[in-house]
Amino acid sequence: MNQERSHALFSRARELIPGGVNSPVRAFKSVGGEPFFAQRAEGAYLIDVDGNRYVDYVGSWGPMIAGHAHPQVLAAVTDTMVNGLSFGVPNPLEVTMAERIAQIVPSCEMVRMVNSGTEATLSAIRVARGATGRSRIVKFEGCYHGHGDSFLVKAGSGVMTLGLPNSPGVPSALADLTSTIAYNDFDAATKLFDEVGSEIAGLIIEPIVGNANCILPRDGYLQHLRELCTKHGALLIFDEVMTGFRVALGGAQARYGITPDLSTFGKIIGGGMPVGAYGGRRDLMEQVAPSGPIYQAGTLSGNPVAMAAGLATLDLIQVPGFHTELERRTHVLCDGLEAAARDAGIAFTTTRAPGMFGLYFREGPVETFEDAKASDTARFNRFFHAMLGRGVYLAPSAFEAGFLSSAHGEAEIAHTVEAARASFAEIA
Ligand code: PMP
Repeated sequence: MNQERSHALFSRARELIPGGVNSPVRAFKSVGGEPFFAQRAEGAYLIDVDGNRYVDYVGSWGPMIAGHAHPQVLAAVTDTMVNGLSFGVPNPLEVTMAERIAQIVPSCEMVRMVNSGTEATLSAIRVARGATGRSRIVKFEGCYHGHGDSFLVKAGSGVMTLGLPNSPGVPSALADLTSTIAYNDFDAATKLFDEVGSEIAGLIIEPIVGNANCILPRDGYLQHLRELCTKHGALLIFDEVMTGFRVALGGAQARYGITPDLSTFGKIIGGGMPVGAYGGRRDLMEQVAPSGPIYQAGTLSGNPVAMAAGLATLDLIQVPGFHTELERRTHVLCDGLEAAARDAGIAFTTTRAPGMFGLYFREGPVETFEDAKASDTARFNRFFHAMLGRGVYLAPSAFEAGFLSSAHGEAEIAHTVEAARASFAEIA
């Protein structure tokens, strides 16, 4: 595969941008080799600057659930942008967006728009700390909540694949306020709350862990956390930046029937534009400035063009049956990959949620972060490159979930499974 232009761009980029990229996992450090540079994208495909086409299972890390460059989303953007790119005063689309989120996610009685998932999560824990008057945050090993200081403790994929368990630059005085426990371990959570429950402002969790591959909650686990938080007066925060609007229209909280106190969103609600949001109980959100004293702000928050892209994307996925069909296709893909691996005699398993999946070079089941880490990552890396060479772009890390969009039709999935057959044979 010719990647001359990508190679030349990466050489230039490395001179001026740390690692040549504006977000670490893009650099292909964990899988080896060099990233390709995108020229454009359409539907399920990315097209690089050398003209190579890839079936894309990254989808810009989640936002592109309706496929790339969807005509309805592009039309909403172009129709909106001719009126101006940013106003610095309220615009009508912000109200529509707040109404839409509150309607789709009933636990969000009020919402605030921000510009990224990171902003959403760090704002949510500020609310948790401000509202409870407590300082401790609980998170889970392998969960990533953006690069806010309090979260860069055992933080999953990006940090982990680079071998950085924590980040320099995070004061230990702050990191000490973050307690980290094992996901899906009922007793670990009970024990922590028994010990320091009265110090805990909030517990933040990816209800389905997409940053340690794709780990699903055990039966009753999220309910257990809900009960612990309620009992100890801590807030339950669902980080639905990945799962929101994807694993069900109403996100993981709808899929599992749990009501968190606060939720964070990103990715899909921006339709590919930089957007995040946090929301939750009215009594908590009313404490945010200017209605309350907890400060949080943003020059470009609620940007009209970004709101238009997000609303158009929500229109597309609110069509009845959208998520059922996305789930069906996820199963077709994962069943196909498992069958191909079996035929090649390779230990391999998958985990799935609607529109989201994990690939593991080991036997199943995978239910914990330890299980996920036991995947043969060297083998994954060879598989990744074998697939890339056949025009299939998987997440460039053994610890990132893959994403499907509604543009991934029978043809794309069949092509992917065929490519996997050849790739498994190549790496066997
Ligand atoms: N939370 C989760 C669950 C995420 O997956 C991510 C990003 N992958 C973030 C927060 C941070 O979002 P952003 O990259 O937009 O800051």
